[in-house]
Amino acid sequence: MIGCTKKVLPGKSGQMLGLKGHQNSKIIHWDIITIGNLSRNRYWGESEEKELHPVICTTTIITGKDFHVIVDPSLKDGNAMAAELKRRTGLTPDDIDVAFVTHEHGDHHIGLPGFPKAKWLAGAQVAAAINSTAKYFKKVEPAGSTLFDAIDVVATPGHTPGHTGLRFDYRGLSVFAAGDSVATKDFWDEGIMYFKALDMEESKRSMKKIASISNIVIPGHDNYFFYL
Ligand SMILES: [Zn+2]
Repeated sequence: MIGCTKKVLPGKSGQMLGLKGHQNSKIIHWDIITIGNLSRNRYWGESEEKELHPVICTTTIITGKDFHVIVDPSLKDGNAMAAELKRRTGLTPDDIDVAFVTHEHGDHHIGLPGFPKAKWLAGAQVAAAINSTAKYFKKVEPAGSTLFDAIDVVATPGHTPGHTGLRFDYRGLSVFAAGDSVATKDFWDEGIMYFKALDMEESKRSMKKIASISNIVIPGHDNYFFYL
């Protein structure tokens, strides 16, 4: 029945399904703002030799009772980023408290200037890397181990050395905004990082870690998927 409110994933039955999150989460909503893509995709039969498509990353919004976090703002044009945010969430950039960046590759932080009032955060190594190269009007600050006491900042090195993802609980599910520690679902299924991996073995270890602590993975360049 459409609209049925019967709970199907709580407590013990959820644990039997392998759910790894907690019910008592401070997160009340999360969603994808832009679905990313790759500049070349081996699963589409494309060579990895050269760039074939304009690329954007996946942008995620994570909302609590009194905060909004945007992860990896993808669009350079601030008006376009604001329009996507409005279209998907009804929010404006000024509603965003934190813009979090998973790693220092430009396609994951190019949209930061569209959020001038938000605090810009990243793992310490990533923040230093962005601040040393990008010419933004303010600095990216190092994040602590959690955001709003509700979202875990988790080291997932390999794609870049300081790469970090965000893990949070939602209705008993554990959700992981992975940035480029997971490129797309196809790469995840094969258990490899895409051609840009700085350290492939470290990448594989990070993906195993993500698999062990999450049920839903949000890749850096694809839509989210379930993993039980
Ligand atoms: Zn990247």
